[in-house]
Amino acid sequence: MKRIPRLLLVVIVFLVALPLIPGLPVFWITQMNYIGLYSLVVLGLVLLTGVGGLTSFGQSAFVGLGAYSTAWLATALGMSPWLGLLCGLALTFVVSYALGAITLRLSGHYLPLCTLAWCLSLYYLYGNLDFLGRYDGIAGIPPIELFGWSLGPGERMYYLIWLVLLLAMWATHNLLHSRSGRAIRALRSRTMAESFGVDLARYKVVIFVYAALLGSVSGWLYAHMQRAVSPSPFGLGYGIEYLFMAVVGGVGSVWGAVLGAGAILTLKDQLQNVMPHIVGQNVNVELLVFGVLMVLVLQYARNGLWPVVAAAWGRLSGGVRCAAIPEVVMASMVGHPLPVRDRPPVGSLVLKVNQVRKEFGGLVAVNDISFELRAGEIMGLIGPNGAGKSTTFDLISGVTPLTAGTVQFMGQRIDGKVAHDIARLGVGRTFQHVQLLGDMTVLENVALGAHLRSRAGVIAAALNIERDSEASLMREAAVQLRRVGLGDVLGEQAGNLPLGSQRLLEIARALASDPLLLLLDEPAAGLRYLEKQELARVLGQLRSEGLSLLLVEHDMDFVMNLTDHLVVMDFGTKIAEGTPEEIQRHPAVLEAYLGGLDEDDMLQEATLA
Ligand code: ADP
Ligand code: MG
Repeated sequence: MKRIPRLLLVVIVFLVALPLIPGLPVFWITQMNYIGLYSLVVLGLVLLTGVGGLTSFGQSAFVGLGAYSTAWLATALGMSPWLGLLCGLALTFVVSYALGAITLRLSGHYLPLCTLAWCLSLYYLYGNLDFLGRYDGIAGIPPIELFGWSLGPGERMYYLIWLVLLLAMWATHNLLHSRSGRAIRALRSRTMAESFGVDLARYKVVIFVYAALLGSVSGWLYAHMQRAVSPSPFGLGYGIEYLFMAVVGGVGSVWGAVLGAGAILTLKDQLQNVMPHIVGQNVNVELLVFGVLMVLVLQYARNGLWPVVAAAWGRLSGGVRCAAIPEVVMASMVGHPLPVRDRPPVGSLVLKVNQVRKEFGGLVAVNDISFELRAGEIMGLIGPNGAGKSTTFDLISGVTPLTAGTVQFMGQRIDGKVAHDIARLGVGRTFQHVQLLGDMTVLENVALGAHLRSRAGVIAAALNIERDSEASLMREAAVQLRRVGLGDVLGEQAGNLPLGSQRLLEIARALASDPLLLLLDEPAAGLRYLEKQELARVLGQLRSEGLSLLLVEHDMDFVMNLTDHLVVMDFGTKIAEGTPEEIQRHPAVLEAYLGGLDEDDMLQEATLA
């Protein structure tokens, strides 16, 4: 964690000193200004595309909104550039919010296609409106003034541009390391994010608007630097270039934005200088070189250049990882405990699944299943592979809509509710196929589970003023991790844990949501014998605290020793229900599992499976 501030220090010293170098060509400052302006837009794409997974070719249109707003207000109405900035931001907010609300529902290739469409539309709008000067644009834009000091000269704009960029990077970094940031980083794992109460649609709009606003600020700076605007820099070509920079720099990191913009603009400039001497004046090979470069980057550095540079920097600045305790682990030590939900009295009805059915086309995955689960009870849901157990979990947690039937939780109908509302009521779950964010720390992964237990918002996160709430979430995550025996790896990257520990992490994450009902899909798979015993102890303890647990598991020893009650499914249908002793003797169960072997064989075979 110490690495980043040291890097920041080097960057700041470099930036401040650069214009002071005697005899520095003016061109360098101009070039740096452009790199700053581009970086600002690319930074938005880091969040939108790199982290959130939403591809946009249309960011240049928002740059145009910021630029044209201030240009028109300053020239036609004589308004101060600062008012122009506010109006531009307001207009961009409204437009991007509306566009986002409409287009972000689209999935797959439709979203990028849509961004192409509105980028083109806005571009033609800029070029065809009389009051915006049509294709000639608007000239005579005044410079920005700061306390009566004109920022006309290039090197003064340079300081403003880079100050704004560093602030935007700081805010983006804060945002990424917050409650909202974890939700945004989880957007690509739709099912998992929804199961912990993340409102996907809302966070998609948030990052879309955020990226658009950064573009708008870049446009504002551009207009007052150039002192003139015309439609061409806001066309589709530039939109593609921004995305290209983001991919080359590294779409997952704040520094990748600056690296991408810097590398591409510098390369472009060099190509324009050198290439005419090699291939003659009239041949434009830039595009060709960029195309080849793109292929190389995607082939050899999928995550862009930044991870490569960061690793080199780590080696250079003495050791990749320093011994210091990560910031998040420090935070977990100072947080206050979070309030907990009232638990229902032991024995009261928690979950009532009634005639629930799920059809996938012609396949009936869950066939009119009914069962009840009471507070302080562990129920096992067992059956061969493909019996419909995981699908039943998805129906209860609202991840998949059911075809027919009803589900009641704490006396309330929850079928028909969306997953994040069901999570809010106190249903926590794990997944058969582990779903965690491998490049986040163990602690942050678990804190995502407590998403609904804090209300800290996006703006507070960007400004870094929600640290108390953040520390409480980290504390809760640490408590739950210690409970499942992962107290020693809080600051590790989750992706580096062995599979067994990742499963335990998922249980801790579900517990961090303070659930009343816990759905565990094959929690003991991949665990060693002693780990299983420890897990059984933890689950037993949760039961004694009044939690209800619904468990899918293939290890029959584990299931028979732990559960109070079992439901057996086969081909989507419930074939038996009862206590572990009753189930072990149930003829239909023996038949389904093993084609009629006796109970000892059943135990043995099922454990092997
Ligand atoms: P289990 O967890 O008991 O092994 P599942 O609930 O995962 O079984 O699957 C039950 C059946 O439903 C399987 O035949 C599976 O192929 C099918 N199935 C599960 N999810 C889907 C889906 N999204 N689309 C189509 N079929 C599915
Ligand atoms: Mg399953």
